[in-house]
Amino acid sequence: MNAAYVELLARMRGAATLSSIAELLGWDQETMMPPRAAEFRAEESALLASLIHERMVAPEIAGLLATCEASGELTQDPAIAASLREIRRDHERARKLPRELVAELSETASHALEAWKEARRTNDFDGFRPWLDRQLDLNRRKAACLGAPQGGDLYDALLDDFEPELTSGKVEQLFAPLRAELRELIGRIAGAEHRPSAESVELPVEVQRELHRAVLARIGFDLLTGRIDVSTHPFSVGIGPGDTRITTRFAPGMALDALGSTLHEAGHAMYEQGLPKAQRFGDPLAEPAGLVVHESQSRLWENHVGRSRAFWSWATSEFRRVAGPATFGPDEDSLYRSVNVVQPGLIRVEADEATYHLHVMLRFDLERAMLRGDLRTSDLPEAWNERIRKDLGIEVPDDSRGCLQDIHWSMGSIGYFPTYTLGSCLAAQLWETFAAQHVDIETRMATGDFTEILGWLRREIHAHGRRFRTDELCRRTTGRALDSAALMRHLNGKLLPLYGITVGSR
Ligand code: ZN
Repeated sequence: MNAAYVELLARMRGAATLSSIAELLGWDQETMMPPRAAEFRAEESALLASLIHERMVAPEIAGLLATCEASGELTQDPAIAASLREIRRDHERARKLPRELVAELSETASHALEAWKEARRTNDFDGFRPWLDRQLDLNRRKAACLGAPQGGDLYDALLDDFEPELTSGKVEQLFAPLRAELRELIGRIAGAEHRPSAESVELPVEVQRELHRAVLARIGFDLLTGRIDVSTHPFSVGIGPGDTRITTRFAPGMALDALGSTLHEAGHAMYEQGLPKAQRFGDPLAEPAGLVVHESQSRLWENHVGRSRAFWSWATSEFRRVAGPATFGPDEDSLYRSVNVVQPGLIRVEADEATYHLHVMLRFDLERAMLRGDLRTSDLPEAWNERIRKDLGIEVPDDSRGCLQDIHWSMGSIGYFPTYTLGSCLAAQLWETFAAQHVDIETRMATGDFTEILGWLRREIHAHGRRFRTDELCRRTTGRALDSAALMRHLNGKLLPLYGITVGSR
């Protein structure tokens, strides 16, 4: 192997190892850390962020990259060429950001996260507002340093950070028709005479814990290289080789919701576990392709598996086995209906598959307006509540269940939300392709056999790391560019019959 490339990868592994330590500290902050440790944690995180940055911009990286890029032996290998392309991208992006700004972003995120937790708990938007202003200001500076791709606006520079080459134009192009079709679907459902009711399943938290471990093991989440804990905001993090973590949240009367969260995070985590980190940690070929692909993996397990009739054939018996057959009443039909009830609500993470995307679109519009300076943060609650009224027809009773509900803005993640909906579109497109190639999948799922699904995702998606950009990966796997058609086919095909509406009728 080429000596310069070996040296370059060793340096990338060093930076990735520091990043994994930062991820571990972030996980700790959300799960275990005592509240008074927040102040020092911010200092620790900022130091790590600046050390990682220093390694990424080191002149040696520039020299090694130039040597590798000039080597025909290396660039003729398509996988190595992709690895170099992605290292170049990371190096250039790091070079555009001053070290002080990187440290400030990290430190501010740590403090703002704590301020947000308190503000949400006490319904005190004004207590959080200075931090939101600060995050917007820092993100404007960051976007200005990165520069907008293809003459787009500042927001595009932030989007590109989460999802390479994504622009607000592309997002709008996908959102506009999707929004219209979703509103039509939601309207038809609202007018349906047949209304399935949601069963709230009561299960002690200890029983739920056992159930989740059983489901995780069955779908292919490796509990020897992963673990599950509890946090207010469920998340997943791929820390490094042999270490992937997820969190969920339990409440006795929300067993179905909790299982949905766990399946979602497990989808993210199984992607991380499927990346070739053991062989090449630090190489972009062992890193996730971007947030859209990441989210496609979580949505596929949460919605296409976890909200399917076949899954509930198996899962109901699993609920019964773990809870005790005498105490567990609901049958598979009622559980299947319960996880698919469409009901406009206040909280994004609890939303059904159809109204969910209206929550995302609202955030996309409002965060762009705030970043541009068209919407002042003092006017955010009113703008939020107005939009919820217009889109979902409900009143927001307080900011904790309104504009304070999500963690993202406190962490400075502006430009993140659109990837949720794009990820759902990709999940539907992947599932449609997979199901066409595996016609017996429903029979298999009904018996608790999910091995083909994970095997297919491993081969088609996980094995490639960042080798292909999302558009290319989507075309290679599904034969088409990414759009919302498969998602709408999935939603109409499942939800209309549940509400007794004949498919195709008006
Ligand atoms: Zn997710």
